[in-house]
Amino acid sequence: MSDAPYQGQCLCGGIQYQAVRVASKMGHCHCSMCQKFHGAAFSTFAAAIESDFRWVQGENLLQTYTASNGTKRKFCKQCGSSMVFESVESNGLIEFSVATLDVSPTLKPDAHIHTGTKVDWVNIDNEGLPMFLNGRTIKG
Ligand SMILES: [Zn+2]
Ligand SMILES: [Zn+2]
Repeated sequence: MSDAPYQGQCLCGGIQYQAVRVASKMGHCHCSMCQKFHGAAFSTFAAAIESDFRWVQGENLLQTYTASNGTKRKFCKQCGSSMVFESVESNGLIEFSVATLDVSPTLKPDAHIHTGTKVDWVNIDNEGLPMFLNGRTIKG
């Protein structure tokens, strides 16, 4: 039960989740909506298929914000932590904020996406990762 390799929680600890497996694509997102939502230069999301992901506790603390383009972002209504992102392209995948994991994942990010809106006050050392001016599909 607690041996799922991916375990995370929000800042206040009210929300906890587990994923038994994540998809191979894990991207740093530089879109302007992630910047606003996270209050940060960029966000980093991993994706798990729905059956591999579960809320351990605090699902009732999740608040959903639906943006003008229809994407949904779920966050903790107690502490504001960004937990989950869903869009039509998510295709049954749960995208969750990697930084809410309790232990660094062995899998590392493999791309920067939406770099067309990257802030100009951070220089990205892209570590040789591909940069996508816009999005990319996660599935595959
Ligand atoms: Zn919280
Ligand atoms: Zn984004």
